[in-house]
Amino acid sequence: MAKKKTAELIWFNGEIMPWQNATVHVMTHAIHYGSSVFEGVRAYHTPHKGTCVFRLQEHSQRLLDSAKIYRMTIPYSLEEINQATLDIVKANKLKSAYIRPIAFYGDIGMGLQVPFGTETELVIAAFEWGAYLGEEGLKNGVDAGVSSWNRLAANTMPTGAKAGGNYLSSQLISMEARRHGYVEGIALDRNGLVSEGAGENLFVIRNGIVMTTPVTAAILPGITRDTVITLLKDMGYEVREQNIPREALYLADEILMCGTAAEVTPVRSVDGIPVGNGGRGPITEKVQNAFFGLFSGETEDKWGWLTPIE
Ligand code: PMP
Repeated sequence: MAKKKTAELIWFNGEIMPWQNATVHVMTHAIHYGSSVFEGVRAYHTPHKGTCVFRLQEHSQRLLDSAKIYRMTIPYSLEEINQATLDIVKANKLKSAYIRPIAFYGDIGMGLQVPFGTETELVIAAFEWGAYLGEEGLKNGVDAGVSSWNRLAANTMPTGAKAGGNYLSSQLISMEARRHGYVEGIALDRNGLVSEGAGENLFVIRNGIVMTTPVTAAILPGITRDTVITLLKDMGYEVREQNIPREALYLADEILMCGTAAEVTPVRSVDGIPVGNGGRGPITEKVQNAFFGLFSGETEDKWGWLTPIE
């Protein structure tokens, strides 16, 4: 069973309430039809600014963007969502946290034709959650496998929306990977080109050139992906957003996966073939240090990515 996450308090439709009171009816629309949009956000303890939410503005904006694609009305503004996110981390006295805002159609009645203007519920949960792909993986890399399941084809379900229903695809990809003894699965798109991990974007490095798959390769354009691109460019690396064929995974010097949950994690093998020397490569280590340096204070936050909760 997936490990249960809890905290003392949760933000539910404008109210901070005890975790166990935040319940919904079994006829909730989102349970039946996947009609939810959500975010994964992290807060880090920093020695210089206290607890800070990372890239809050971008996550709240993506939540609203996901809702816009599905013509959902979230009855809160960007500013209100930002504030509520800070409030729930603070209310739970969390030093660091994984934050899960989720907007969904509640008990609005059955049927697919949701009247335009129907408001969603909004929940923001914050709780402790360590390294998603394991502490050991952060250092030494994880074993990944290419999935037999493709990511969603263009114009079937929009992968650019972080919607609940899309995660059935992610579950198939990660389940298969686990069954084959891998920590995570890598999916190809409908054209057979590399897309992304079940819940992470991918970077492939060869001969000092860093490549990542484009937004047209059925990916969720990750906020961590943008962070990694920005940090690498800031360090003087060229980053190419380009189509990546499957075999490039087997010939890479380095591969890294990134996402809010996975942070920046090296991949040490794909389908049993070692990536480079089979551990964390030098560029991956540099960008990982730059990433975690944002929270230790060693990397200057030139971009205003940290929002203190106080
Ligand atoms: N792709 C998928 C399918 C994801 O679920 C995630 C995690 N949100 C990502 C990529 C990475 O996105 P982000 O860096 O914004 O967390």
